[in-house]
Order: sequence, then structure tokens, then C-alpha cells
Amino acid sequence: MKNNLIAIVNIRIFDGTGAPVLNNGVVLVENGVIKDVGSSGSVSVPDSAEVIDAKGKMLLPGLIDAHLHLQGFRSGDFVKEPLLTPFGVFVARAARDAESLLNSGFTTVVDAGGLVALHLKYAVNEGTVAGSRIVAAGPALSQTFGHGDEHYFPVEWVDYRTTRKFTPFVSLICDGEDECRKAARYALREGADFIKIMSTGGVLSEKDRPEYLQFTIKEIRAIVEEASHAMRIVHSHAQGAKGIKNAIEAGVKVIAHAIYMDEEGFEMAKEKDVVIVPTLAIVEKILEVGKEVGVPEWGLKKSEEVHKVHIETIRKAFKAGVKIAAGTDYIGGWLPQGENAVELKIYVEKVGMSPRDALITATKNAAQAADLADKTGTIEKGKLADLIIVDGNPLENIDILLDKENILLVMRDGKIFKNKLE
Ligand SMILES: [Zn+2]
Repeated sequence: MKNNLIAIVNIRIFDGTGAPVLNNGVVLVENGVIKDVGSSGSVSVPDSAEVIDAKGKMLLPGLIDAHLHLQGFRSGDFVKEPLLTPFGVFVARAARDAESLLNSGFTTVVDAGGLVALHLKYAVNEGTVAGSRIVAAGPALSQTFGHGDEHYFPVEWVDYRTTRKFTPFVSLICDGEDECRKAARYALREGADFIKIMSTGGVLSEKDRPEYLQFTIKEIRAIVEEASHAMRIVHSHAQGAKGIKNAIEAGVKVIAHAIYMDEEGFEMAKEKDVVIVPTLAIVEKILEVGKEVGVPEWGLKKSEEVHKVHIETIRKAFKAGVKIAAGTDYIGGWLPQGENAVELKIYVEKVGMSPRDALITATKNAAQAADLADKTGTIEKGKLADLIIVDGNPLENIDILLDKENILLVMRDGKIFKNKLE
């Protein structure tokens, strides 16, 4: 079989482990896995290997967006668009978006709730769609009157088990420990790679607010237990301080948004090795273009309310040493899949991270949020060969990652999907 042994030579390696950049490095890839990595003298390259000369460019771990939704949305009108657009159209658009993500250097994405990704991941895995690896939650678990219970629709349209229309945003509505257990089992049955829950209200839900508490600790515990039986973790959408702490106390491993997280929450997160995924990019974008793309008035209003405090919280969390993973909450269209590195730019410009710290959020830390820390996120022996080569040095200027043209080579699972080195 040709192509199962590839050596990338003449590269500068940022491996994502915290080690300094290695000049004149070599990476040897065999059957989709990193077989060896090191300086040019220390790695022996067999004659049978296909050799790629990277011409001194920089090699990074493939980027990971730890929170997005491959929904194939094109407008900001969350009420009308799902009603008027056939499901197949959403899937076709999301396939295009998954390709765009891969071409932008994102070798893995975490889909934090929705049906499209749940189906699309099969098409990516079988090679039909040349997209990022998808880690999908499938339908999120929400209480009645929760963030995932789209309040503007009749409830039977919202619940995955009763709706008669296949649509991107559907949830599993569950109340009480037994229903929560059953809903978690149902999500697993449908192919969820992790369980997504909503433990507070939100910005883009009509009748609640970020501070509202959703699910009891007991309900969350029941879900976490069911997930753990299937060796999976739980992510929670959590914005208010108390709902964040409830989730962490009950065993949730990833907190999305974290808008009003407090000092006590930071300490709990550190103690339990919980990762937070800020998703600052979506709020910025709503403020920028939300009105013209049709985001409902209540969504615009709440976005304005949370914008400043959200950034301030993430700044404090970073200072306090809480682990942060990059995630955009992008859904397609005006929240364009492929421009997700903008989250890193915000971390550097507004949160106070160095470009190196920002890169770690989209590689090593994001791999932890994806529950793939042993498989990807760093360039180390034995990990999947998810690698990108970039033009320029993102450690000096993170902005270079925002331009697709600077992503010269993309390899996922040892397979080259893009190569502009020649
Ligand atoms: Zn989200």
C-alpha cells in the first residue's frame, strides 16, 4: 500500500505540549498515526517513506473547535429558518461547512448539540465528505422551559422524540431524575459521543435568562452517571454562576460559555480539572451583524448585556489558571465555519493570552474538551496524525491562522486533504 508511510521533513515544530519550538524537525507518520517525531538527526526516515519537504515552515497540531454547531444555518432567524428549510438542505450546507473547516486547519470539531452533525459524522468517517473529524452530542438534554426547549415553538416540535419535522435544533426534554436518565440513554442510543445538557438559561433562548437555574444537581448527577456508564463525559451550557457550580459539583467536565462564573467556580473547575469553553466569537458577531441577519430582538438585547462581563470573566478565569478550550459556537452562514480561529484572536486581543496560550486552547485543551486527549491535540508519538503546516509564525502573530491561504497543508488521520507546499 502506497502512502502509509509519510515523512515531513525540514519543519519547525510547535507540538502543543508546552515544549519550545523545535527547528529542523521531522515527523514520521505510519497508517494514520505519528510514529516518530524529533530533530532531523534523531528520526530515521525509511527509504519507503513518501517525503514532504516543508521548506522550513511551521507544523502545528490540527486545530480543534471545542464548541460549534454544524447546523448549516444561513440566517440569524432561529424561528423561521428551521421551519422553512428542508432538513436535507441543512445537511448539504453543513457538509460544505465541514470541508471549509478542514481546509482552514480544523481537523476536529466538537458539535455541542444538534442533529445534523450526528448524521454528517458518518459521511465524514466513510470518506464521502472531506471534513473535520466530528465529535457530536446529538440532541441536547434540556428541562421543560430550559435553554434547549425552544420556547417559541410548541413543545412537541422541540422534543426529538415527538417532532415530526427533522430540523437542526432539537432537544430531549426531560424533568426529574428518571426522565433525565432515560434521555441520556436515548442520546447515547442515537450515537452521541458525549452528552450535552443545559444547566442555565441563555442568550439565544426567548423566555429565560443566563442567570436562571436549570436542572437540579440530582438530575445532572443522574445524567453524568449514565454518561459515565458508557464511558462518556458531559458538557453543560452554563452561564449563571450557580448553574455553573451545580454542573461542576455534579460531575460535568466541560462548561460552555461561563459568562458569570465566579471565583468559587474557578477553584472548583481547577480542582476537578474542568475545562471552560468561552465562545466569545458568537457574541462579538451578534453585536456586529445580528440585527441585519435577523437575530430576534431578545437575543440582541441579551447579547449586549453580557458582552463586556463575559470577556471580563474569561480574563479572570485565565488569570486564575482555569483551563480554557477554544470554541466559537458558530453555526454556519453569518457565523462562518472556517473562520473559527477568530476566537484565538479575541483571546489574544481581549483576554490577555499570548499567542502561544491561545494556540494551546485550540489544540491540547480543546482535545481534552473533545475527550480525545489521548488521541489528538499534540504532536507526540502514538497520537493520530492530525497535523497542519502554516505559512508564517502564529506564535508571533495569531492572525495568520484566520486566512485559509496561510494553511498550506492539512493532514487528518494521516491523510492529506490539502497541500499547497509545492
Ligand atoms: Zn452552543
